Amino acid sequence: MLEKIRRRESKNMNSNGIDREETRGKSKETKVYLVGCGPGDPGLLTLKAYHLIVTADVILYDRLVSPEILEYAASATTNSVSSNDSYDNKNNSSEGKGLMLFVGKRSGFHTRTQDEIHDLILEFANAGATVVRLKGGDPLVFGRGGEECEFLREKGFDVKVIPGITAASGVGSSAGVPLTHRGVATSARLLTGHLMKKEKKKMDAGENVTLSSESPADLKKEEEKEEEGAVDFAVTAADSDTTLIIYMGLGTLPKTKKKLLQEGALDKRTPCLAVENGTTLKERRVFSTLEYIDEAVVDAQLQSPTLLFIGDAVRLSPYFPQALSKENFSSSSMRWELQVGQDEDENRMRHTPERGGKCRIMSDINDLTSREWFSKNFISEKLFSLPSADDERSKERSSSRVVQTSM
Ligand code: SAH
Repeated sequence: MLEKIRRRESKNMNSNGIDREETRGKSKETKVYLVGCGPGDPGLLTLKAYHLIVTADVILYDRLVSPEILEYAASATTNSVSSNDSYDNKNNSSEGKGLMLFVGKRSGFHTRTQDEIHDLILEFANAGATVVRLKGGDPLVFGRGGEECEFLREKGFDVKVIPGITAASGVGSSAGVPLTHRGVATSARLLTGHLMKKEKKKMDAGENVTLSSESPADLKKEEEKEEEGAVDFAVTAADSDTTLIIYMGLGTLPKTKKKLLQEGALDKRTPCLAVENGTTLKERRVFSTLEYIDEAVVDAQLQSPTLLFIGDAVRLSPYFPQALSKENFSSSSMRWELQVGQDEDENRMRHTPERGGKCRIMSDINDLTSREWFSKNFISEKLFSLPSADDERSKERSSSRVVQTSM
């Protein structure tokens, strides 16, 4: 094994012993990194991910990447960004050397299809840039990272994957829920609330909008069938020794709950936890039981991103409300409890390094100033030929409809 590693290492060196990367220039050997950045808390970023974020030429990121993490990518001259929603537009005056481009969903703007994202990464990589495709959690867990890898490898690029802490373990452990626990849960299953087989080529995981030319009635039927598939699978995967963790499961939660109870797969008092924006300063947790969890998330108005935990291991969380415990269940009228900010870590930034990346925020691919500026370094005109927001809006008007899928 060691031999193999040595041989690989020597392949990466040129005759002067210098890593080829340094001598690469604009060739197919340019690296593309698929980087997971964990569930949101910047302290949960890996050192590898941090290093790549601050040295990348281009960062393509989506909605699940927290603003605090994006701040590391921005050049030291652009430190005025706070950790709330609209990171874009605030930093266009920055003088970095690289670009950061949001490729997720933003209301009122064109939502890139998966194919368009592939093309964008390819164009930047072809232009010789070191590209970081930054994703929430782990890039290969319900993140469509696998498809991006396949596509780029087919085009001859060396794609390196940097693992991230997936929401199940990051959000679960932070909330004190052991995914497995001797005598309580012998296994944990990661599931998705959505199996969008038909549309999966067109939409990004964790996004809400996808475009289609099919008739609304057909699509509705197709969606329902696929949702049923996901729900059925959750039921098959359930047993009292297993912790179920459901990604993108809010929309299908009422059906999942109903089936789990109908089929007798789980007891109605099985503890449940729904966590919105886990590990971030906006985290909200709802503890309940299987019987009431759907009602609870609606009452608490939880929204995406929310992760669901179902199973006895939830009861082991130090935050689990005693009124929901088995002993108190019959006497208590409590159905659920919402917890907000109780675990806020004032020292969270102490766990994280200084900012100092070289990227500047490009609010949209059609942002002219950024285009001109970046083109000087790298880019071909073709890169920017994707449809503009205006083109896309007129396309939406004439196409049959925009389909909303809940997560
Ligand atoms: N690759 C990601 C998952 C992408 S799918 C990972 O490994 O974690 C998107 C779904 O992940 C969301 O709809 C939500 O269910 C879950 N999720 C991701 N980050 C989350 C967070 N911080 N809090 C709660 N749920 C989260």
